[in-house]
Amino acid sequence: MNDPNLNQALQLELDRCVKCGLCLPECPTYRLKTNENASPRGRLALIEGLINGRLQGDEALVRHLDQCLTCRRCERVCPSQVKYGRLIDAARDRLPRPAGRALAAITQHPVLQRVATHAARALPSSLSRPIASLHWPHRLARALPAGPPAPSCGSYPPLNGQTRGRVGLFTGCLGATQQSAALASALRLLRHVGYSVTLPVDAVCCGALGMHAGNTKDAQRLAERNRIAFDQGLDAVISIASGCGVQLDEYAPQLPAPHTDICRFLIDHAGFKQADFRPLLESVALHVPCSVENIYHGAAWSKQILNLVPGLRVEPVGELGQCCGAAGDYMLRYPDVAKRLRQPIVDQVLSGDHRVLATSNIGCAMHLAEGLHARGAKAEVLHPIELLARQLLSR
Ligand code: SF4
Ligand code: SF4
Repeated sequence: MNDPNLNQALQLELDRCVKCGLCLPECPTYRLKTNENASPRGRLALIEGLINGRLQGDEALVRHLDQCLTCRRCERVCPSQVKYGRLIDAARDRLPRPAGRALAAITQHPVLQRVATHAARALPSSLSRPIASLHWPHRLARALPAGPPAPSCGSYPPLNGQTRGRVGLFTGCLGATQQSAALASALRLLRHVGYSVTLPVDAVCCGALGMHAGNTKDAQRLAERNRIAFDQGLDAVISIASGCGVQLDEYAPQLPAPHTDICRFLIDHAGFKQADFRPLLESVALHVPCSVENIYHGAAWSKQILNLVPGLRVEPVGELGQCCGAAGDYMLRYPDVAKRLRQPIVDQVLSGDHRVLATSNIGCAMHLAEGLHARGAKAEVLHPIELLARQLLSR
């Protein structure tokens, strides 16, 4: 816990902060609360106090650090390039676990998670309404409709002719139950352009939820299990949800093959042309998750994917790099903040009368879908590659 070498490394990183305050107006929690303790600069000061022993991990300090969304918008705009994400994870690792981290526990038990999701979808909202603590998680769990059965684990050959390469598809803990259509779409698109695709049977949760809850050891354990699961002579490991992708990048050097995001991989390697897709004369709202913009700087990827569909008009919604409030299990623990952060995005989708909202992160998809349903909107929430696969012309 109080390893002097680690403390020294953290202090060196903290010293890079010149207290300029440029990160403050970009931080979603500071914008809502206008309180220094809810800002990146204020949280760095709290972390410094914790590391050098001037501050104790009391309830107020734990709350201020826990209320950070880990969106890393502050990192993106920081002129000193302070690695805020590393510092907040390290600080949380030495604090008592705040209550309400149930999702992190459930996601690491696939059977439990599948049962909980199926039960949530079967149970009408009217039955959970009287129990406030159950009603919100229940609404989130059933916000996205059940898709087709998720692809089974195993290896799938290319659909046409020669193999261009072998890739592994990372399912993630919620992928099979909440994003099965996106997984099936990724599988189809990759096989269509000549890739052999493996879904390893032993792959597990990426560990992001545990990591941001201050459970570094657990995240490292999951990273090691994924390293072993993907050690199959693959050319790449491909993730669907950008939140998982960010965490896989954290331990990329340990992975036996380079990791990349599905949109980026298809743009760089699939060689798709507009002629490969059926036209769709509609307008789609495109939400870029903060993880994609702030960490990957990849806001263009989803747009490039959707621009492959002839006739499709793509209208960006939300402020680029601003968190929608989903932020892993944050939406469960701080629903009021989460709802306020998604509000402008939901308003924009409704005012544009879009039939589809595309977003590439699973948590954002659940959170935004719930927000749209709550307002009576019928818009479908899809991963960009689902729309692409729907329009794909088979050879
Ligand atoms: S922008 Fe960077 S250097 Fe400036 S206060 Fe924020 S973290 Fe510190
Ligand atoms: S990670 Fe996001 S919420 Fe946390 S301090 Fe940085 S900008 Fe604010």
